[in-house]
Amino acid sequence: MTESSFVGADSSPVSLGSPEVEEPPGSVGLSTPQTSIDTIKAAARVSRDGLGSRTSGSGPTTNSTTVLSAVADRAPATAKAQSTRIDAAHRDPGSVRHENALTTLFRERFFPDTSDADWDDWRWQSRHRIRTLEQFEKMLDLSVEERDVLADGGTLLPTAVTPYYMSLLDPENPLQALRKTVVPTTREFQRSPGEADDPLGEDGHSPVPGLVHRYPDRVLLLPLDFCSTYCRYCTRSRVVGHGEIQPNVQRLEAIFHYLEESPQVRDVLISGGDPLALSDEKLDWILGRLQAIPHIEFVRIGTKMPAVLPQRITPELCTMLRKYHPLWMSVHFLHPDECTPEAKQACSRLADAGIPLGSQTVLLKGVNDDVDIMKQLVHRLLLMRVRPYYLYQCDPISGSAHFRTPVSKGLEIIQGLRGHTTGYAAPTYVIDAPGGGGKIVLQPDSVVGREGNDVLLRNFEGKVFRYPDHEGGAVGTHLS
Ligand code: SF4
Repeated sequence: MTESSFVGADSSPVSLGSPEVEEPPGSVGLSTPQTSIDTIKAAARVSRDGLGSRTSGSGPTTNSTTVLSAVADRAPATAKAQSTRIDAAHRDPGSVRHENALTTLFRERFFPDTSDADWDDWRWQSRHRIRTLEQFEKMLDLSVEERDVLADGGTLLPTAVTPYYMSLLDPENPLQALRKTVVPTTREFQRSPGEADDPLGEDGHSPVPGLVHRYPDRVLLLPLDFCSTYCRYCTRSRVVGHGEIQPNVQRLEAIFHYLEESPQVRDVLISGGDPLALSDEKLDWILGRLQAIPHIEFVRIGTKMPAVLPQRITPELCTMLRKYHPLWMSVHFLHPDECTPEAKQACSRLADAGIPLGSQTVLLKGVNDDVDIMKQLVHRLLLMRVRPYYLYQCDPISGSAHFRTPVSKGLEIIQGLRGHTTGYAAPTYVIDAPGGGGKIVLQPDSVVGREGNDVLLRNFEGKVFRYPDHEGGAVGTHLS
């Protein structure tokens, strides 16, 4: 299966129901505009200006939920009315349909004839992903760096953006945070010292194709290499979208057999490509096979769907997932602008299904390397019932120098969160050690020394306090 085809339609031991139809990406409906591009740009400008944070240059920018509401207030009455339409696609008459104002305006401009049912259908979104130069240049004012790479046929990592996520991009500003994360630039061609295609050494810990067994008691299972939207900083850009990891039964059965023979494995992470790009039926089968292995205690799913394709989180999917508790989910949010009403509804559905949600956020230069931006993100995540879990230092994949920040920036952000906001909101800052060393936690020094039996501790305000640590003093010298 190649990147251009959608997933779940391969040989499966169960009936797939309606097939996930493959359609050429060129079928994006660009019909006569009903809303001027100037209206969309004005809405985006209102969004960004409203926060009073950085709005230009290379720094991160944001649209706040508050500001999105402001956009809605300025939008035509029809747009406001649409924000509470019944969600026909989800076949749940009790659920209210949510659509943020930027998306409404984008739809009026580029997909005026698309029904709510189609727009809310994740398969429709997948089939209409924006992938070619011609499509991008109709929706964005491309910079020279963006145009050149798209005209050149792209880089190692394919390019694809769902229409929903495209609606959140700033059509004018190539430095907008979300746009930088999904639209390629020629900087991806620049290889810097220390970078590698497989910086984590995953390929060296793969006993079966599509399985990484680096830690004794847990494994990473890659069911496919497809993602609905490709992140330009992806650690697995050497793999995703290349069509080499397919969700076929033979390969997956080899993985299940390996796991059946590995009683030390108690925890399976199913992750990217995006597992939720699989059909419900295929995912149901995979989870059922894992549940049948007695020593596997629980499964985790890693996904970016709630951020890039929240339409994927249907009531039907959640009903299926409920069967496999304890089931945990790592969702991937980067920036407060991703925390739309649609994303919130997706996360609510998962949380209502009893699935604990933790966010894994990659620290990216010019995207979220700012204490205020990160604070807005973690606060909104908590409102979406998502616990900020990890803040990752960007892995040194080939062509990633323009995304990577100094480690001191990550420490500064953690320093700016810990003690300054709710404890639940502060993620753990980690580096996944190059070469397969695993995750290493980094934190600002809080232990500043020892005087006699007292250990000296620095609080979030920089003030030093004493803690009577008599036993520690008798034992030791590990604090200095
Ligand atoms: S969703 Fe995950 S696996 Fe897919 S491109 Fe983004 S980071 Fe990579």
